[in-house]
Amino acid sequence: MSMSLAELQRIEQRSVVPSYARFPVQFVRGEGTKLWDEQGHEYLDFLCGISVTSLGHCHPRVVAAVREQVGTLMHVGNLFYTEPAMRLSRRLAESSLGGKAYLCNSGAEANEAAIKLARKAKPQGGVVSVLGAFHGRTYGALSATPQESKQAPFAPLVPGFRAVPADPEALSAAIDERTAAVILEPIQGETGVHVLSDELLSAARRACDEHGALLVFDEVQTGMGRTGTLWAYEQTGVVPDLLTSAKALGGGLPIGALVTAAAFGDILQPGDHGSTFAGGPVVASAALAALELTDDAELLGRVRELGARLGAGLSELPHVLAVRGRGLMLACELDVDAPALVRGLLLEQRLVANATGPTTLRLLPPLTVSAVEVEEALARIAHALGA
Ligand SMILES: *Cc1c(COP(=O)(O)O)cnc(C)c1O
Repeated sequence: MSMSLAELQRIEQRSVVPSYARFPVQFVRGEGTKLWDEQGHEYLDFLCGISVTSLGHCHPRVVAAVREQVGTLMHVGNLFYTEPAMRLSRRLAESSLGGKAYLCNSGAEANEAAIKLARKAKPQGGVVSVLGAFHGRTYGALSATPQESKQAPFAPLVPGFRAVPADPEALSAAIDERTAAVILEPIQGETGVHVLSDELLSAARRACDEHGALLVFDEVQTGMGRTGTLWAYEQTGVVPDLLTSAKALGGGLPIGALVTAAAFGDILQPGDHGSTFAGGPVVASAALAALELTDDAELLGRVRELGARLGAGLSELPHVLAVRGRGLMLACELDVDAPALVRGLLLEQRLVANATGPTTLRLLPPLTVSAVEVEEALARIAHALGA
């Protein structure tokens, strides 16, 4: 028997740092696209813990990999070899930039590693990001996240960071020989699914080449098949020097990674960087299974197909002004209150989604979602919008 929601809320009030605003729902079980609360109500999950459970909840192959590893060896640390970390690193590098991988525990940490690598390659160098970016909550990642509400309470931030409008000219003008790195999300996720233009990405690539700066793509949210290719950069015609991944990488468990192009694989040397838990056998086994399942042409084709259907269905609904995104990373701009809609969807329609702003609804269903579930979600959103 689970504790009741009211009991959990009493514990939270007394004992939990209130850094999260939670909905009044307790989940106790998940399978595929479905979640269940402690009263047995069934929900459709079109958020995936923010693009983490992209293979659906408790994918049997991920569960089997974790079960096998967790009963064999959980942790020894990076003073020794373990097979899952080596195999995962090889697979990550071979599936993307062809260099080497550095494993860590989260998206923010993957970006920290990228920033440290770039600074070591160009000591004292600056880091440029664009307005509307989100790169994480640790100090380096936060310093590249130009949002007043997230940065201001924690000043002073790391020196040498600068943010410019997401505009090719402004970005090119901000990059010079003192720039160590430019960090971009090919599609900005947390601030509302804004696709950065190919012109902007090419301008960043050109300016980085000209001034010897590293181009970093933060694919923490866009990667692992979310946009209909394994990595979002594959659809842009621009190849970065460094790529970061996390969120869906672990199939539901916490892991992050930095992947380098061949030229930058040896910049970080023994003693330069590290983390106790990084690349542990259990999370690396989960990630290897998740990566093998996701790097699959048929699955990725379905992501593009069902993403197109979901986007088209959304654009026909009342109060939807525009639909943005690629693959199964979608947002709608509404002429009604998005947080209120999300609450109604969750509590009345039992559809899990989220609002990234006052008028923006974001949908991140599992890549394994069925066509029937897509239609069902559209029907529930239509109902909540009063259609
Ligand atoms: C979620 C996210 C991060 C931060 O990842 P954490 O695992 O929460 O540290 C960084 N960049 C992008 C693009 C993200 O979506």
